[in-house]
Amino acid sequence: MPANKQLAVAALENGTVIDHIPADALFKCVKILGVENLSKQLTIGNNLHSRKLGTKGIIKIADVSFPEETINRVALVAPTAVINTIRDFAVVDKRPVQLPRQIVGIVRCSNPKCITNNEPMRTRFNVIDFDTRTIQCHYCGVKTNGAKADIIYLPLPLRYEAIVETGHNDLSPAGRAGQLR
Ligand SMILES: [Zn+2]
Repeated sequence: MPANKQLAVAALENGTVIDHIPADALFKCVKILGVENLSKQLTIGNNLHSRKLGTKGIIKIADVSFPEETINRVALVAPTAVINTIRDFAVVDKRPVQLPRQIVGIVRCSNPKCITNNEPMRTRFNVIDFDTRTIQCHYCGVKTNGAKADIIYLPLPLRYEAIVETGHNDLSPAGRAGQLR
């Protein structure tokens, strides 16, 4: 289905496309990035045909690029994901996600007695096995499989270190007319 694929990745002028997300991890990725709260054009597709994965999910966000550390968090649930950076309709950078050594603020500790479940503070997990994506709570030591991690819903200011706006110098008719918002 090449036409399907073209439709899924072609139309973005500037922004970020997260491709090759396992279909069953798509909405966890959306939650990890909190992208539904961005006031940017957002396209989410799922169960698209993929030669590698069978079916896949895809997330397209216009006019935003994420710090590497932030977007790499999706590797926790979607290790096959590929990040495409789009400028002027062209892919200018394409790289696989890499699981960071630490996962801060997005996974709930499964231990009800953990301090992070009893104090208003961010959770912190260390990745102790990259192959199995096993993470361990920095505070109480409880281990969790990243793929099954309970993702915390945080407001955006707590979720992002930074969001980089793209297309500042966009003087195309579409940009001027605000069609990308
Ligand atoms: Zn804990």
